[in-house]
Amino acid sequence: TLRLNAMTGWIMWALTTFFRELGVVAEGMETIAQPLELVDEAEARPLHLTSGEIVLKDLSHHYGRDTGGLDGVNLTIRRGEKIGLVGRSGAGKSTLVKLLLRFYDVERGAILIDGQDISKVTQDSLRRAIGMVQQDSSLMHRSVRDNLLYGRDDATEEEMIAAARQAQAHDFILDLQDPEGRKGYDAQVGERGVKLSGGQRQRVTLARVILKNAPILLLDEATSALDSEVEAAIQDTLYGMMEGKTVIAIAHRLSTIAQMDRILVLDQGRIVEDGTHDALLAAGGLYADFWTRQSGGFLTIEGDA
Ligand code: ADP
Ligand code: MG
Repeated sequence: TLRLNAMTGWIMWALTTFFRELGVVAEGMETIAQPLELVDEAEARPLHLTSGEIVLKDLSHHYGRDTGGLDGVNLTIRRGEKIGLVGRSGAGKSTLVKLLLRFYDVERGAILIDGQDISKVTQDSLRRAIGMVQQDSSLMHRSVRDNLLYGRDDATEEEMIAAARQAQAHDFILDLQDPEGRKGYDAQVGERGVKLSGGQRQRVTLARVILKNAPILLLDEATSALDSEVEAAIQDTLYGMMEGKTVIAIAHRLSTIAQMDRILVLDQGRIVEDGTHDALLAAGGLYADFWTRQSGGFLTIEGDA
């Protein structure tokens, strides 16, 4: 998988470069992971967001293979509901959130947001409605400021800095200087700029999503690249971000999602458990098993949990 990751990284880099040269603004990994052939339908309309209710109808997606991905998932996430999504590595968690952003068109079934099939709305409006932080965030090869303002270019300097502070990013941003001497929020990131660590990129992405303040929030191991001290400092920010939003959070530590309204367990592409933390513990199934094994929330359940 290391090789695959390097390959994926290279493809991402190539695509970013390509888009930059074209002068197209790419929304970090969110847009870059988007297959190029996905275009809006001629009659595509903007998503009309009312409450942020998400419905998955008999959703299957296997990346053109026989196994892997999602298999017949039915799910309704009500307005403002906070969902924790757990499962072994490869269970299909990231696939589910990526399909919500329409990184791929679904193989079978449909995804509805407030009653509208996401394959029939404009991709731009869909992406505006959703804030996403991924396990491996890549940034645009532009200034830190451009990266932060991407989701909301009308934000003031104060709002931008407040978001960066909440994401524990402000202090390290102030210390940045790129090879051409541009500093702080003006420093360029990436190839010809400053190289940020995975944790720093994740914090910039978090700040961007805080600033964007979209009604639907998808957190895919949003703190996985942070060291535990920073991660702990960011927990309150994360819970604060979720207020009033429809949220799907995939966590690498169970402790961070135990208090969600509802926990879904994915196994081999299917939802096998659905309930509150207490209910699932009492049920003694897969979730209870994960919980016991990771001793109170401090071990990852990725790998061979
Ligand atoms: P999780 O996030 O739960 O670890 P994923 O959704 O990333 O799982 O992956 C689910 C399954 O789909 C795995 O078997 C994985 O190998 C496969 N998969 C994920 N992304 C792709 C892709 N881009 N192409 C082909 N297969 C993929
Ligand atoms: Mg994943």
